[in-house]
Amino acid sequence: QAFDFTEKVAIVTGGGGGIGRAASITLSENGAKVVVVDLSEEAGLLTVNKIKENGGEAKFVKADVTKEDDIKNYVQKTIDSYGKINIFLNNAGWEGKIMPLIDYPTEVFDQLMSINVRGVFLGLKHVLPHMIEQKSGAVVNTASGAGLLATPNMVAYGASKHAVLGMTKTAGVEVAPHGVRVNAVCPGVVNTAMMRSIESGFGQGDSAAAETARKQLEATTPDGRYAEPQEIANLMMYLVSDLSSHITGQELVIDGG
Ligand code: NAD
Repeated sequence: QAFDFTEKVAIVTGGGGGIGRAASITLSENGAKVVVVDLSEEAGLLTVNKIKENGGEAKFVKADVTKEDDIKNYVQKTIDSYGKINIFLNNAGWEGKIMPLIDYPTEVFDQLMSINVRGVFLGLKHVLPHMIEQKSGAVVNTASGAGLLATPNMVAYGASKHAVLGMTKTAGVEVAPHGVRVNAVCPGVVNTAMMRSIESGFGQGDSAAAETARKQLEATTPDGRYAEPQEIANLMMYLVSDLSSHITGQELVIDGG
């Protein structure tokens, strides 16, 4: 147990996905009670069951983060069950389509912005009041290297992650006087379902081309490999722990160089 999250209550959105599951399990291993939020009930419950099998405490709340009522519901269920929110991993996201900007479907752009930007905004809007009231709390928004660099063929995704960093800076400054911290992580390529989908998109559905895309992405990473979800979770743990008590409004890049 590297951190002490005993008596802490955490919410993890996208908690059924690769990074969200690793983070949820790690929070639990370090003592936190975890509310796992996801659109996929099956994936979210799998995370909760893994936590319970290890003797931890967790609950699943189904939510579509684009819907404000769903956000209010996961916040309220957390308060009803555990009375407070100490840790918030605002992590649910979608990669969208892989195609040039001039061909990019407008409705996919809108849908992606709704998940990756509106969903993150609504999470902040409804979780932060509880943290402000208790004068403590730590939030990590999952941005991306795509929030810092050009993302050819992923215009909406790149724009959305730039927006996540903008919200992180604003929220971090606004709530700092209340003892609440808001930071972002910027992973490079991570070994999750999302990257399988992106590889497939770059390969235009052809599996050999998808494998070539993967090799190219690995080759452009200085340490030569994808991150494992656990490595991203480890950075998140640092950012929600007291070890990072003077870090706020920041983006931390975790991309193998
Ligand atoms: P993933 O696809 O394994 O997990 C994403 C999860 O979000 C899924 O469980 C999905 O059901 C959930 N989700 C999607 N839309 C939702 C909605 N509307 N409401 C609620 N839940 C929803 O991918 P991951 O790699 O674990 O991604 C987690 C976060 O990390 C995302 O924000 C992603 O953009 C970011 N990220 C991933 C990578 C990578 O290489 N995998 C790199 C940088 C950043």
